[in-house]
Parts: sequence; C-alpha cells; structure tokens
Amino acid sequence: MLSLTPHMFNRSRRNLARWFTLSMGSILVIFAAILYFLEAKEQLRAFDQELYNTAQFMVAGVEDGLYQEQQRISLEDVPILGGEALPFENRIIYARWYTPKKQLLEFFGITPSEQLNNKLGFQTIELVDAAQEPSQRGDRVSNSVRHNKLLRQLTVPVFQDKQLIGYLEIAASLSPVENTLGSLISFLIVGVPITLSLIGLTGWSLGGMAMQPIRQSYDQLQRFTADASHELRTPLQAIRNHAQFGLLEPIDPNQQQSSLENIDQITESMGMLIRDLLFLARNEGQLKPEALNPVNLVSWLELLVGEYIHLTKAKNLEFTSEFPEQLVMLRINVDLMRQAVTNILSNACRYTPSGGKVRLRVFLASCWVVIEIQDSGIGIPEKDLPHIFERFYRVDSVRSRHTGGFGLGLALAQQIVQVHGGQILAISRLGEGSTFQIKLPFTPKSSP
Ligand code: ADP
Repeated sequence: MLSLTPHMFNRSRRNLARWFTLSMGSILVIFAAILYFLEAKEQLRAFDQELYNTAQFMVAGVEDGLYQEQQRISLEDVPILGGEALPFENRIIYARWYTPKKQLLEFFGITPSEQLNNKLGFQTIELVDAAQEPSQRGDRVSNSVRHNKLLRQLTVPVFQDKQLIGYLEIAASLSPVENTLGSLISFLIVGVPITLSLIGLTGWSLGGMAMQPIRQSYDQLQRFTADASHELRTPLQAIRNHAQFGLLEPIDPNQQQSSLENIDQITESMGMLIRDLLFLARNEGQLKPEALNPVNLVSWLELLVGEYIHLTKAKNLEFTSEFPEQLVMLRINVDLMRQAVTNILSNACRYTPSGGKVRLRVFLASCWVVIEIQDSGIGIPEKDLPHIFERFYRVDSVRSRHTGGFGLGLALAQQIVQVHGGQILAISRLGEGSTFQIKLPFTPKSSP
C-alpha cells in the first residue's frame, strides 16, 4: 500500500501534465492555424489589390478612337502590352488584350488561346508545365515563368463611355505570398513544438505543485490513521487481558471486580479518544452561525476558572486570573470553546510542578480578544515547539502517556479556535514555562 503511493501520485501528476499539455497544445495549434489563415487571407488581399491597381494603370493607357472612320483600339501606350515598362513588370507573367468579342488582340508572355474562355475576376491558377519556355508574340519573355508554379490571374472587362471596348487579362506570380507564408509555416513548425515542450514542462511542474498539498494531506491522513490505530490497539489489548483474566476459573471475586473496573476505565478513555478523533475528522472550515451563542466572555471564564481552583490547590500551584474591565461579548460555541480552554489550562497544571504558577489573563489587542494561559512549568524544547499542535504529537510520549494524554489536546484546541475564525499560538522556554494564546476576532461595536 505504502509503496503504491509514490506511483499513484506520479501517475496523477503525469495525467495532469498530459491533459494540460493536450488542452493547451490544442489551443496553441488552433491559434497557429487561425494565425496562418488570417495571414494568408491578408497577403492575398494585398496581392489582389496590387494586381488590380496594375490592371487599372494599364487600362488608363488604352486609347479608343476613330481611325479612317473605323473604331480602333490603340494599345501603344499600355504598359507591358505596348512599349512602356512598369517598375513591377517582372512580376507580371502574362498580359492579354481581347476584343469585345473575346478575340485575342495582343499579348505578352505565354501564348494564350485565341478566344477568351476564362471567368472574369480573380483566379488562382497553377502553371502546369513550368519548365516549358513560353512562346511569345510580345517583345519580352519573362524568365520567372520557369520557376513559378502558382499564378494569380485577373480578367476585367474594359469600358469607355459605358461601352465595352475589350478585356484585359493579367497574371502575376504568387511567389512573394508563397515565400511570406512559407516563412510563417517554418516559424510555426519550429515554434509550435518548442512551445508545446515548454507547455509540457510547465504542466509537469504545475502537476507537481497541485499534487503537493494532496500528497501532504494523504501522508497526514496515513499518519493519523496509523497513530489512531496504534492508540486504540493498546487499550483494546488491555481490555482483552482483563477480560481473559476475569474468565479464569476459579477466580477471586475481588480480582474479578478489579478487572471489570479496569475495563470500564479503559473503555471510558477509549470513548473519549474516539470522540476527539471524530471531532477532528468532522469539524473543518468555519462554524455555522446557528452553532454560536452570545457569551459574556469574562463571566463565562470566571465560572470555568472556578472549577480549577481546587485542582491547583491540590497540586500546590499558585493560580491567578486577570480580566478586562470592559464588557467582552463574543459569539462562540460554548461547549467547544470550553474544551479548548480546559485542554490548555489542564496542560498548564499538568506540566507545572508543585509550587509553580499558572495565570489566566484576558486582554484586548486591536481586533482580537486574547485568552492567555501562562505557566512556570517544565516548558517545551525548541525543536518540539513547531509540532505540538500536530495530532498525536507528544514531546515525551512515555511521560505524556503516563499523565493520560493522547497528544490530541492541543490539536483539538487549535481546530476549535480555527473554526471560530481565531488563532492559537505558543511561546515556551525549556525549564522556564510556557504561554499559550487563544486569539478570537472581536469588534467592540458589532458585539451582540
Ligand atoms: P497531551 O494530551 O499528550 O498533553 P497535547 O496535545 O495537549 O497532548 O500536548 C502535546 C504535547 O505538548 C504534550 O505531550 C506536552 O509534552 C506538550 N505540552 C503541552 N502543553 C504544555 C505545557 N503547558 N507545558 C509543557 N509542555 C506542554
């Protein structure tokens, strides 16, 4: 069971890391795909705009007029198709001019069909045989044809005075867009796996951090179960011994009586232990308002202290108490708070040798009311002080067991104070004595 624990936690940690990487990775991949899609769209839009501007620029050079009483189109001044060059000309793979009847009139670049068959508007086309040298009727040949695969083609009807005078078709290589998108893809191909590994590492360390408190409480629970079983096993064994002795025949009635009394005592002590364990297991968080009653703290403590006068006298301890003049009304669960205060007070009496002093003092400190119990007893070693509020922790287990403690008194007191929204702290010096403070939240105005 114990050897399974690290494996179990590692498996949960791996699962957490895996799911974290998977979910964050999916988000990352979706994000990368959207980024790529938007960038491709934007690049194509900008490219189309440029192609459209080129077409407009070319159309501006078309001259339409009467020549020898016939309607004639002159493409002399049209860049690329005429003689004029354009700064972006090398990007244009081909340009064609068709008559209104869609008959080829003039072209530059790859030889087109005599008839315009293409759809109007933008189209992306693939150059099937890129290596083939294009035949041409124009003056120049674009070398870039050999290397480009994808082209963006624009076919527009051209009007003058609302009359169709022809069709212009131009195409440019999409390589700039392909290059930009290629760089983006390379960046994503390298970047996404690196980011995924970083996400995986983060997931692993986050998984570790998430498992830590679970592991701690698991360890605590295991320790608690082991300690509780141990505490219960010892008295059970004692009960068994007494019972077996009582069953022996023939038996002295006095011895039988003594065995039964022992069994009664042990079961009572076991009952108390079980009650404490149940309280520790059930009460966490804060108490519900209906579990709290308004209490005049000073009068209530005075009554409680009265019960200790005899005990301290019997043990020859000097007991003093100090209370504030002010009325301190608090909402507390009287039964629980009584247990917390008596646990600390009993410890003070128990761990203070005859002739020592025990003092109970109540005072106000900013928004707290403090119940302080001070003794001049044996004190607590420095190394044990941080652990005394842990369940089943005993500074000297042999001595503590002898004095009747299970090591649960302070754990219970702490839990009770915490469910009241308060704090408990201890200051101690070995051989000089100890001071325990119960701090409860207090607002004079809102006191009931
Ligand atoms: P127990 O019931 O065994 O006394 P507690 O939880 O009340 O258990 O206390 C835990 C340990 O703290 C005790 O074993 C004891 O050694 C130490 N302790 C508690 N209060 C005092 C005190 N006033 N003076 C010295 N030691 C104390």
